[in-house]
Amino acid sequence: MRLDSLYQDVIMDHYRRRSGHGLREPFTAESCQVNPTCGDEIRLRVAVDGQGRIADVSYEAAGCAISQASASVLHDAVCGLPQSEAMIIESAFHALMQSRGTDAGDPEVLGDAVAFAGVSRYPARVKCALLPWMALKDALHRSEGISR
Ligand code: ZN
Repeated sequence: MRLDSLYQDVIMDHYRRRSGHGLREPFTAESCQVNPTCGDEIRLRVAVDGQGRIADVSYEAAGCAISQASASVLHDAVCGLPQSEAMIIESAFHALMQSRGTDAGDPEVLGDAVAFAGVSRYPARVKCALLPWMALKDALHRSEGISR
């Protein structure tokens, strides 16, 4: 495993500053996800406003650099977006992570999340990168149930 390709600068920057870290109120729904393979854990909250827009994503995460950097990238990518647009990014990220290094990702859609393209070559790390996005998807699903 070549660490220089795995831990790219963008990933390490996000790991160090972790945008949006910390649990905040108010929130619409919360999701807790665990990646037992690596030991990563995340508790993620979404605040969805009356227009179906993601007003905030807050989280507490423990685990490896990949999972924590992914949560930070997620925060920057989806805050302020309509839920439908956030789910387009989620789908694109999921596809990227399952590409086993064959997809470079579309920066127009993914933003900083394209930095994880190299991670898709390491199956054990894919779950780390996807964990916050699983939490987001689950939390948005729960928030729909609440608002209806
Ligand atoms: Zn991990």
